[in-house]
Amino acid sequence: MKITAIECHVLVVPGLQEDATSSSQDNLVVIVHTDAGISGVGETDTGPWLARAAIESPGSHSMAMGLKDVYLGQDPFDTAALWDRAYTATCMSGRRGAVICAMGAIDMALWDIKGKALNLPVYKLLGCAVQKTVTPYASLQPEGTNVELYTQTLVAWAKKAKAAGFRAGKMECTLAGPYRHQALRGTDEQATEIVRAVRQAVGPDFALMVDVQYLWRDARSCLRTVKKWDEFDIFFLETPLLTDNLEGYAQLAREAPMRIAAGEWLNTRHEFRELMDVGLVDVAQPDVGRVGGFTEAMRVCHMAEDRGRLIVPHCWKTGIGIAASAHMAFAVPHCPFIEYLPAALCDSPLRRDLCSDGLTFKDGVLLPPTKPGLGIELNAGALKTYRAKPLTI
Ligand SMILES: [Mg+2]
Repeated sequence: MKITAIECHVLVVPGLQEDATSSSQDNLVVIVHTDAGISGVGETDTGPWLARAAIESPGSHSMAMGLKDVYLGQDPFDTAALWDRAYTATCMSGRRGAVICAMGAIDMALWDIKGKALNLPVYKLLGCAVQKTVTPYASLQPEGTNVELYTQTLVAWAKKAKAAGFRAGKMECTLAGPYRHQALRGTDEQATEIVRAVRQAVGPDFALMVDVQYLWRDARSCLRTVKKWDEFDIFFLETPLLTDNLEGYAQLAREAPMRIAAGEWLNTRHEFRELMDVGLVDVAQPDVGRVGGFTEAMRVCHMAEDRGRLIVPHCWKTGIGIAASAHMAFAVPHCPFIEYLPAALCDSPLRRDLCSDGLTFKDGVLLPPTKPGLGIELNAGALKTYRAKPLTI
């Protein structure tokens, strides 16, 4: 089998808010075609125009090639060999960032092709169902421009998730920092009261995680507050510091009363090795598309397992990436949760309309997917509806 074409679709929601913090407003969807008539789908979470350029740009020398020229004519089954070739052929422009994200979308699509060609779900190719079920956590998304409204919507979300059968949820609690919503401002003391309110709302029998989205500049400021959160039984605290503050992360890993999670922005196993070996994080959060696809995500999973750490993948795109996270989670023993929100509960029309994730959510857990490949079906109409206007730069 040979790869014959790579289609790139840059998608955006109507009324795109460039100053909003949610990356569920855009997408780069990649469809890889083969001469066997089988095609595969992948997506990645980055600036979609940049990632598309990494694929479609002409090459200028052997270390600055466009990805299309690396993959066209190759056998889609050669995922690891192609990953290495693409990494080397782009190392003057890539190694990290949008080029790796673009490689991730293509690699995801290649695994979809392999599964379809063999009539097997991707998780079977990754090592089969090491876990019989995977527990999804609901991402609880507050709204509001003041702390009171923010707390109320978060508590309402938490109750709704629990009523929908979820056994776990991750609450955003971001009253300052780069992901702060709109005009919202709040203190660390108010953050503590928000966490308390959500824990009270869901009761003790519910795994609660807190995402503060790079809130603090240094470990001491973080510790001053999160040491008070011990009583709330937090499963993990996500991205308390900027990702490159690895010494700060190491201090938190030693002194915070809960697990520390990070990695949603990272590309390649090399960045995760630093995060785990220097930053000492307890929970690594690869995003399958962004880390470099299944090929690289599984390497990160194995590295985490070797070090006795957990994997809880990041996913904030559509059913494509959600399905990819689930396939990976089934194939490893140390992934207690995946990020998951049923399309019906999501406020992004792109996420609702592009495709279903093909997963069965029952009694608070996800069952192994049964369809070949990723098990998703793209809505061709949505590809047209959400197509971004051509670039004019
Ligand atoms: Mg996050």
